[in-house]
Amino acid sequence: MNDEQPKKIEGGDKGLPAQAGGYSARRFPRKDSNARGPRSAVTRSANRGNYGSHHNSQHATQGFRRHDGVVTSAVTSARPQHGQGTSSGQGGRPQHRTFKNEAPRTSTRVKHSTGREKADSRRMMAPYPARNQENIIIPPLKDGDIRIIALGGVEEVGRNMTMIEYKNSIVVIDAGLQFRDDNTPGVDYILANTKYLEDRKDKVKAVVITHGHLDHTGGIPYLMGKIGNPPLYSRNLTTLMIRKRQEEFSHLPPLDIRIVEKNDRITMGDFKVRFFAVTHTIPDAMGIIVETPYGNIVHTGDLKLDHVDGVPTMEEEDEFDKITKGSNTLLLMADSTNVERPGYSFPERTVLKNIEDIIRNTQGRIIVATFASLLERLVKIIDIAEILGKKIVLDGRSMKNNVDIARESGLLKASLETFIPIEDMEKYPPDRIILLVTGAQGDEFASLMRAANKSHKYLKINKRDVILLSSSVVPGNERSVQKLKDNLSRQGAHLIHYENAKVHSSGHAHHDESLWIHRKLASRFFMPVHGYHYMLRCHADIAREAGLPDENIIIPDNGMIIEIQEEGKKIVSLKETAPRGLVLVDGFSVGDMQEVVLRDRQMLSQDGIFVVIATLDVSTGKVTKSPDVISRGFVYLRESQDLLRQARFLAKKTVEDMVGGSKEIDFDYVKDHVTDAVARLLFQETAKRPIVIPVILSI
Ligand SMILES: [Zn+2]
Repeated sequence: MNDEQPKKIEGGDKGLPAQAGGYSARRFPRKDSNARGPRSAVTRSANRGNYGSHHNSQHATQGFRRHDGVVTSAVTSARPQHGQGTSSGQGGRPQHRTFKNEAPRTSTRVKHSTGREKADSRRMMAPYPARNQENIIIPPLKDGDIRIIALGGVEEVGRNMTMIEYKNSIVVIDAGLQFRDDNTPGVDYILANTKYLEDRKDKVKAVVITHGHLDHTGGIPYLMGKIGNPPLYSRNLTTLMIRKRQEEFSHLPPLDIRIVEKNDRITMGDFKVRFFAVTHTIPDAMGIIVETPYGNIVHTGDLKLDHVDGVPTMEEEDEFDKITKGSNTLLLMADSTNVERPGYSFPERTVLKNIEDIIRNTQGRIIVATFASLLERLVKIIDIAEILGKKIVLDGRSMKNNVDIARESGLLKASLETFIPIEDMEKYPPDRIILLVTGAQGDEFASLMRAANKSHKYLKINKRDVILLSSSVVPGNERSVQKLKDNLSRQGAHLIHYENAKVHSSGHAHHDESLWIHRKLASRFFMPVHGYHYMLRCHADIAREAGLPDENIIIPDNGMIIEIQEEGKKIVSLKETAPRGLVLVDGFSVGDMQEVVLRDRQMLSQDGIFVVIATLDVSTGKVTKSPDVISRGFVYLRESQDLLRQARFLAKKTVEDMVGGSKEIDFDYVKDHVTDAVARLLFQETAKRPIVIPVILSI
């Protein structure tokens, strides 16, 4: 996308270190993994952290050790996690002997057929396509053919990354990130799967970044090392933003950043690459022209058109004419984010004018919350403040960072005197103050949200404040933004936002702008990018409207291998796909985290966890006392004594029945049965399906 700065920008953009090129790069022991008791392990908010049931079993062990002081045998989860090793773990705590940690998931939870089955089967579904595609053999690229793969960004808004391969060279366009959604609780970011590139590192000649938004740049610290740290090309401002973010990953080898300008023509392996300037909500945005013997491949990046009443400006005309000069367009790849919307997008020029009017006409203090990446808008507001003799207060890390970048790039020329620290705000009359703050998306820890919750040290909202929310609401953030607005207005502030005034405009071409671009470039083939599948479909309709036949349009999925064959005459998609499983940044770990972890998180969030700890005397085959139960997020135990009694009794009986006096005890077998029996009981009694973890200790 966009302007649409993600939800977690303040908290989530902390840039957690991750090793270059390393899956599961866990550089530091997670400091809380041993310090916390079972409660914190299970009930901590799913904000961050890789608490699979591996940890749970670990905690269960600790619980036992504290309790009895004797550990002679096994502790494992009945639902072991593939690939979550139990050897060294966090903080080097010695592990107890485990039984066959690779045992398959038990099917306990899907056995019962009830009215809840539908909901449950939804829960059991893998949120994303399975990963086991390692065995797919991808045919080598035929000499003379061109291969294109959208590695990310074509089934979602975010994690944009596309590659073009020809002869011995691959050029990558963008390396973005996506923020977590309902399917990936607790995860920080989702990245494009770069396995295809990792397997062909030597061919990767360059990564070209279209502009400075995180959905185009955010993957850089995590992915560049994995694909061989190739040269990274972009325009000045974008490179400044990339460098600034890279500072937070100081352990990584330096990037080979090369600044290009829109009129440059650069050789990248077998490709010649040119650029063109595009209008977006951040300066220095560009599109990319990759020259091939059969015509140009044009990738627009994110863009809209600068226009006056639906007529693109001369600058736009000139820039697009430049693309087609001397060569035809073989393939167009273009931004689909807003093509569903009719007409032309609202011009930023008008937004700036409206904001200026509001600032001029407001008597009290003005608090502007906007996407920190909307540099032009920030600069404009600061300039107006300077003209009117007002002072600017910056609050929020990304806001300060981006104002720094704006100054460094030469966009911002305002005097330093215009800025005052937030601590000094009270020294000035309110009508001389403009605050530029983060938190327009209702992000929990961002400046404006803290003010709304009355937990901000300096910013106290009062009845004379005018708050300008100069941003749209990113899908998924509606509720938190509503809460933000409620809490601000409860304190008496006057709110101006994009729904009651034209104080924000999106950075993506609407239908008519897209159509104009299609007609202008008149490409032979078209492939929509940047957006959910439906958006891509809508975009394909626009290509048809512009006269393209169906067989010349290809709608990609992530990892789909698309080839232009027969000297540019034909476009096809292969039946094989490039690896396309989820790559997640989750705390310090970066990699293709197992779907089972995500599924567990979803289940934990819905029905909680139920741990039964039984101590078995192997000499007698009897459970020594009534088993212990630990449960979180399931039912309130104090009020469920009867259920607990039944569960304990059932666990004890099941263990003893299964052992049945035998000397060779198969603990996995016993535990599977305990899980089954207890899960069935809990479901019968409560209609809930917590994750059941039996722990059997032998003495
Ligand atoms: Zn963008």
